[in-house]
Amino acid sequence: MSKLLTDLIEALRCLPGVGGKSAQRMAFHLLERDRERGLRLAQALEQAMREIGNCSRCRNFSETAVCSLCASTSRDRQVLCVVESPTELAAIEQATGYRGQYFVLLGRLSPLDGLGPEELGLDLLSERLGEGEIEELIIATNPTVEGEATAHYLAQLARAANVRPSRLAHGVPLGGELEYVDRGTLAHAFGSRQSLD
Ligand SMILES: [Zn+2]
Repeated sequence: MSKLLTDLIEALRCLPGVGGKSAQRMAFHLLERDRERGLRLAQALEQAMREIGNCSRCRNFSETAVCSLCASTSRDRQVLCVVESPTELAAIEQATGYRGQYFVLLGRLSPLDGLGPEELGLDLLSERLGEGEIEELIIATNPTVEGEATAHYLAQLARAANVRPSRLAHGVPLGGELEYVDRGTLAHAFGSRQSLD
């Protein structure tokens, strides 16, 4: 096999769930039938990788310093929802009628992986809680062991800033990831969140 082809297949394997066989199928498909779109894919990939950064307020993906959600004047600034990743933010946006703002941890407390408060941007979060505008902190970390430990820590941060912490309720299976919960269940869990104090 040509070196360029081998390189392409190897590169495609960085995608989640893509093994050697799928990567090879994708590479052949693009070369055989879809070069135009393959080029568009390459362009979009390059531009996104270079230009998408993280919002300076909520850490979500953004190509501007402050993302459109944070800049929006129609979002409720008294409620802040903390999620582990941009994927979960998107799931909540799609499944619920939530109109507040977000904070994205880009991980969860996991000392073994070197993820502590600093890596999760918790100083930035504390700063926001201290601004005095936020009344409720909705903690939407995943119901895994690490997600629960993170939730506990976040609730303490909220209380220290006189902000009411709440946690997503029933329906989200223990050990599950919000990303994979169906919309109805997520909407219900979000709507019937429970106060943690
Ligand atoms: Zn933002």
